[in-house]
Amino acid sequence: DLILSEKGLSISPSVTLEITAKAKAMKAEGIDVIGFGAGEPDFNTPENIRNEGIRAINEGLTRYTPASGIEELKKAICKKFKDDNNLDYTPKNIVISNGAKHSIYNALLAILNPGDEVIIGVPYWVSYPELIKIAGGVPVYINTNEEENFKFTVEKLDKVLTEKTKALILNSPGNPTGSIYEEEELKMIADWAVKNNIIVISDEIYEKLVYDGKHVSIASMNPEIKELTIVINGMSKAYAMPGWRIGFTAANEQIAKVMNNIQSHTTSNPCSISQYASVVGLLGDQSEVYRMKEEFKRRRDYMVEKINSIKGLSCRKPKGAFYIMVNITQIKGKTIDGIQVNSSLDFAKVLLDKARVAVIPGIGFGDDDYIRLSYATSMENIKEGLNRIEEIIERN
Ligand code: PLP
Repeated sequence: DLILSEKGLSISPSVTLEITAKAKAMKAEGIDVIGFGAGEPDFNTPENIRNEGIRAINEGLTRYTPASGIEELKKAICKKFKDDNNLDYTPKNIVISNGAKHSIYNALLAILNPGDEVIIGVPYWVSYPELIKIAGGVPVYINTNEEENFKFTVEKLDKVLTEKTKALILNSPGNPTGSIYEEEELKMIADWAVKNNIIVISDEIYEKLVYDGKHVSIASMNPEIKELTIVINGMSKAYAMPGWRIGFTAANEQIAKVMNNIQSHTTSNPCSISQYASVVGLLGDQSEVYRMKEEFKRRRDYMVEKINSIKGLSCRKPKGAFYIMVNITQIKGKTIDGIQVNSSLDFAKVLLDKARVAVIPGIGFGDDDYIRLSYATSMENIKEGLNRIEEIIERN
């Protein structure tokens, strides 16, 4: 008598949804909630990109394109990989999809047989476990900790390796951690993957948002790991284009072909207008990307200092992306405004109800000792929001 599929029922709703929905409802009632939940830049898409979208509409570039994307954009993506990552690809290696999330899904569908295991680090980006499950795989978790900047090592990878291990998802710079893997660390992980014939799905969507050090793609370590790596990237974060839905992958030709076949029967091409606009984004003036990055860095620096000055809270300085993991172990067990706080969700609820600040509970990323604050919101909001958090903690 089961109407719904077992697979469908196995997919968890987002635990962050409850908080986000409540924050929205409060805002709709006219309550001034400060939101630290944003997963997207608060900037508008740069003007040159917007204008190209308008041009594409007016010139009738509004028909189907090849399923895996237009040749011009594939060439621009190859140039990006060469210039930014020293990676040589041709358009045959590239598949353009409806956002990086879709790219990851296609990649998983292309490589997983039922029951194949995919390793991910905890805390993880919320969608990884569910995408793996939808694609028929089994997520395998590696715990990381703050002292190690939330990064896993080859020793930890060895411990979870089985006959069924098919792939590893690497996310650098990471969401929610903001951590970046250094070149030496990537080299070791690459050697491990090559030795064990494990595919690496390297999610580099935050590549352009690195404030200390530099981004390196694991695929650039050597030709063997390049063959095994599916590089994920896209326009959403760096170019402030989340709504345009353009993500892309670079992979060996066999994998790219299978991904293309899958996409051709599911969604067909990503939006034609967005593809033309993305060509201009990648090939045009990059000064807006740089300007947004500088602003993110300024906010990060302010937040890290302020958070560490609040009693009971602490955080490390993340090197990339636009998130901060705030350690709340000293808050757990306390009573705040009459409410017992035993979990990250409890704390998030109290902050929303009593301080009108929305944050994401760490449990959504698999780690209950943290809340995640995004700095993809104005400096004014950041100052006011952190003051409210400080105030509620101090009065308790
Ligand atoms: N990967 C990570 C780590 C992300 O944080 C996100 C967006 O939040 C994505 C992928 C998905 O990006 P897109 O909006 O292009 O699908």
